[in-house]
Amino acid sequence: MAVAARTPFIAGNWKMNLDHLRAVALVQKLNWTLKDAGHEAGSVEVGVFPPFTDLRTVQTLIDADKIAFALGAQDLSVHESGAYTGEVSGAFLAKLDCTYVIIGHSERRQYHHESDETIGAKAHAAIRHGLVPVICVGETAEDLETFGASAVPVGQLEVALEGLPAGSDIVVAYEPVWAIGSGQAATPEQAQEVCAKLRAVVAAKLGAEAAEKTRILYGGSVKSANIASFMREPDVDGALVGGASLVADEFAAIVRYQKHVGV
Ligand code: PEP
Repeated sequence: MAVAARTPFIAGNWKMNLDHLRAVALVQKLNWTLKDAGHEAGSVEVGVFPPFTDLRTVQTLIDADKIAFALGAQDLSVHESGAYTGEVSGAFLAKLDCTYVIIGHSERRQYHHESDETIGAKAHAAIRHGLVPVICVGETAEDLETFGASAVPVGQLEVALEGLPAGSDIVVAYEPVWAIGSGQAATPEQAQEVCAKLRAVVAAKLGAEAAEKTRILYGGSVKSANIASFMREPDVDGALVGGASLVADEFAAIVRYQKHVGV
């Protein structure tokens, strides 16, 4: 389910939460909640990123009930197949109708010591398999103090995009590490400033046309109370949502940000 240029994208990263049975309950509730609220599918793209073990179940549900959600995985291997115990190939994700795959999430960088180069190799692997990588970049609190907000994410994205074909279909997520799960989101102005710089990186690496169509998301303590303020910014095209994506009513309210007062 590839979507046209700059359709707002609200993506729910479930992280290591919800087994496949609870995944069904959440997807169904989210679908009903959006339908009941009169949400017009297509005005905003909705993506769900469950754990690997849920993907087949969620794929089947989306397909059987004709639910207009895109499916994504939370990571992929740089390898195609072979003796890589515990890893999951992009080929397998493509077979499950995944459209997207998150790469470079700060939790992978921190707990699995993934380097910018590894994340670049994962971007290549995603593109090879026809998956759209959601490339996460962001600065830690120490980075922010030492280098300001944009230097680290800009550097991370430059390496991640190295050698990708011009015009590659990607999504970028600017996620300040200090804002993830902390309840303390960046300001919309900071998000805009960094997202504009990230768009310039996409232009330099993949071409002006790709930069124009690439969705750049903000992530870090997004909730229904603050999403509209981010979406007012010209270079913020959506959100990568962690904690709030696990609560159907709250995630639906984020998806429906266009109905919030004053937007
Ligand atoms: C995330 O981990 O991608 C994230 C944005 O988490 P949260 O929304 O919980 O801050």
